Amino acid sequence: MNDLTAPVADDPAEPVDEAAALRLRAYAGQCEMCGAKGEFVGTSLGARESFPCPTCRATLRYREQAGAILTWFGRGRFSFFTRFVRFPECQNLTILEAAIRGPFTRYLKGHPGYVQSYLFDDVAAGDSRDGVVCQNLEAMTFADASFDLVITSDVMEHVADVEAVVAEVARVLKPGGAHVFSIPLTFPLREHSQARARLVAGEIEHLMEPRYHRSGTDTPSLVFTDFGRDLVDLHARHGLRATFHRSHPFVKRLVHSAAVIAVRP
Ligand SMILES: [Zn+2]
Repeated sequence: MNDLTAPVADDPAEPVDEAAALRLRAYAGQCEMCGAKGEFVGTSLGARESFPCPTCRATLRYREQAGAILTWFGRGRFSFFTRFVRFPECQNLTILEAAIRGPFTRYLKGHPGYVQSYLFDDVAAGDSRDGVVCQNLEAMTFADASFDLVITSDVMEHVADVEAVVAEVARVLKPGGAHVFSIPLTFPLREHSQARARLVAGEIEHLMEPRYHRSGTDTPSLVFTDFGRDLVDLHARHGLRATFHRSHPFVKRLVHSAAVIAVRP
């Protein structure tokens, strides 16, 4: 189990030349998502969007999330996610994933406790489209303590009110549950999170040059927050213990990427 008291104990003081590392490096390993063994090769896409599994194509950031889930819920007894999914340790979990695609949506399809959500513009909160329930993460319709595991992948940087989302995630998590998420992080980690934009009376106010990522429905999605080390404090304000999970000893020396696991004690 991770040491919950030591977030990013090993982040280096100096930034690495990630581009150079990615051009040169590959490593032999096992995929935490599908269990395939093979060579994981750096591409020009940046570390976290790189090192795809040669079999399932899951990139580093998804595999780090899988590693964090296996560490916390699998108690280290499962080496890859698609195996973990078949066992009671996973089958008995209630899981919310705010996504309409990605490896977890594939491998959790048919899981008895799996709920998929997305913020659709034209679906009422709590109603579903194609099996995906419409939810605003800032004000979810779920009861308190509904989920053991909440998964978001590159979502948290796009929410306008991150404080509200963390409060809501803390509310819907069961004791012992966890939110396992990926966000873009730049190492060495900045001390303080930075708002790139904010909502003022419903209007977007840009505080920095607007940055967009592609959303789950292929529309541009504005980045509201560049996160820093203080995301640990943000979670602590809502009773969650956030730590950084880095599951690749080789990659860890090479490039810097991490999943975050925020546990409700
Ligand atoms: Zn794989």
